[in-house]
Amino acid sequence: MAGAASKTFQPIGGLHHARRGNAAGFCVFNDLGVVIDTLRSRFGIERIAYVDIDVHHGDGVFYAYEADPSVILVDIHESGRFLYPGTGDARESGKGAGAGAKLNLPLEPGAGDREFHAAWEQGLAHLERSAPQIVILQCGADSLAGDPLADLRLTPAAHGRVARDLARLANDVAEGRMMIFGGGGYDLGNLAAAWTRVLAEILRSS
Ligand SMILES: [Zn+2]
Repeated sequence: MAGAASKTFQPIGGLHHARRGNAAGFCVFNDLGVVIDTLRSRFGIERIAYVDIDVHHGDGVFYAYEADPSVILVDIHESGRFLYPGTGDARESGKGAGAGAKLNLPLEPGAGDREFHAAWEQGLAHLERSAPQIVILQCGADSLAGDPLADLRLTPAAHGRVARDLARLANDVAEGRMMIFGGGGYDLGNLAAAWTRVLAEILRSS
C-alpha cells in the first residue's frame, strides 16, 4: 500500500477455512480475513476483489463477509455435495447489503479446464463490473488433476489464466495491486507446477 511493490506472492498462506472464532480444515488463523480487515480499517480500501480457486469452498472468507458489499467474491470449487466443507452452492450469492456481491461457481467431480474456463469467464465478468481497488487471489493447487484429497482435473493452465487475467485487471483499475496466497494442495508436483505458473504470469505482467 506504500507503493514499494504492487504484487505479492505468499505460498504459505490462504488459510480460507478458519473462522473468526475457531480453527477449521487445516487452518488456524484466517490470514485472508486479517488482510481484508486491515486493508479496510488501516488503508480505507472500499472495494476488494477476492478470488478463490482452491478446490475447497473458501467458507471462512465467504461467511465472514457474506453481508458485506465491499468484498466482491468469486469462488470456483468442487461442489460441496461431494467435498469438504459442503458449502458454496451457486444460490449463495451474499446476504443483506452484500447480496449479489458474491459468485459461487461449483464444479462437478471430474471437471477439467474446459468447465473451469467457462466458469472463470463468468467470474471475471463479475469482478470487472465492480472496479476493485485491490485483488486477492487464493490459488490452491488441490484443484489440479491427481490431488489425493479432491476430484477436479485442472491443469496449471487454469491457474495461469486466472493469474494473468487478474494481473491485467489489477493493472487496469487497481494501481496494479494484487496479493496472491498459495492455499491448499496435497501433491508436491502439482504445487510446484501451479504456483510457478502463477508466478510466471505475475512477473510477465509487470
Ligand atoms: Zn483446499
